[in-house]
Amino acid sequence: MYSDALLTNLVIHPEPLEHLLEWLVKRLEPGISSDWSGSYEKIEEELTEFERWLDTVWGMGFYETLIGNEESYSIPLAFKTAAEMDGNVLICDGFSIRELMFLRKALPERVRYNAGKAPTPTTTENVVETVFQSTGLIEALTGQKLYWGNTWNGDVIEDISNPPRLGKKTGLMFLSYHPDAPLHRARSYGLTQVQDVGQVMKQISNLVSYLSRNSPLVITGDHGYIYVGDNPNKYLWLPYKRKKRFGADYTTNFMEVEGVRVAVGRFHASVSRRSNAVIVHGGVSLCESLVPVVVVEAEPN
Ligand SMILES: [Zn+2]
Repeated sequence: MYSDALLTNLVIHPEPLEHLLEWLVKRLEPGISSDWSGSYEKIEEELTEFERWLDTVWGMGFYETLIGNEESYSIPLAFKTAAEMDGNVLICDGFSIRELMFLRKALPERVRYNAGKAPTPTTTENVVETVFQSTGLIEALTGQKLYWGNTWNGDVIEDISNPPRLGKKTGLMFLSYHPDAPLHRARSYGLTQVQDVGQVMKQISNLVSYLSRNSPLVITGDHGYIYVGDNPNKYLWLPYKRKKRFGADYTTNFMEVEGVRVAVGRFHASVSRRSNAVIVHGGVSLCESLVPVVVVEAEPN
């Protein structure tokens, strides 16, 4: 399925996650067509299978590479990168390999990326507390703040189809609730069909395209997520158990991080058919913990 050489390269690589992300992007890219919903599901099938392989052949060593620190967390990396480029920052609530794939498709030649990590447990609350010592994303990303040696002015994008005008201003930070909000509360966002996930990816790439017109934009997220869609049997590893992603009992499939038990891989998810959510997060896994830091160059004149 995947070669032994790939595993060897990953294990001995000084930056295994960078290497892994680059490999995945190359592998997934050809599968993206103009049908974004169909492409999203194809990507997810591949991610599910690939992660199962990592779990089987690499095991806990793989999950250990996903545990970060101040130097490798995605949010500080994004702010430092944006400061160096004299650009702006967009923090998406939930940002993963899939969003990176669609941004590359939407804005060819303008997208670069690195691998960042989400603090564990991979919940908004924990990430905000860990990286901003703040109580919420709104509190952290509005008003004037000093982050990693630079001053930033923050704004929340309430309506993704109507983002603020920014002209040529830089030193701005924006918060978007996409994709977490529509995927977590699918019904209240009118996503009656799981197929609408392609629509959510379109909205994000339109937003990024707009915000990067005049200045470079660095995009990342607080955490990634596991997609379960309307059928957990498809994207979780059988036999999956209905459990929260941290603070529960997980037989052997867990790690203890700073005294908290967190689920690893895709064996546990608190989802049901009646649930509103088509994603879960909180644990340690490829798609929850690896959060790309994406640079979009300004639109050429
Ligand atoms: Zn979040």
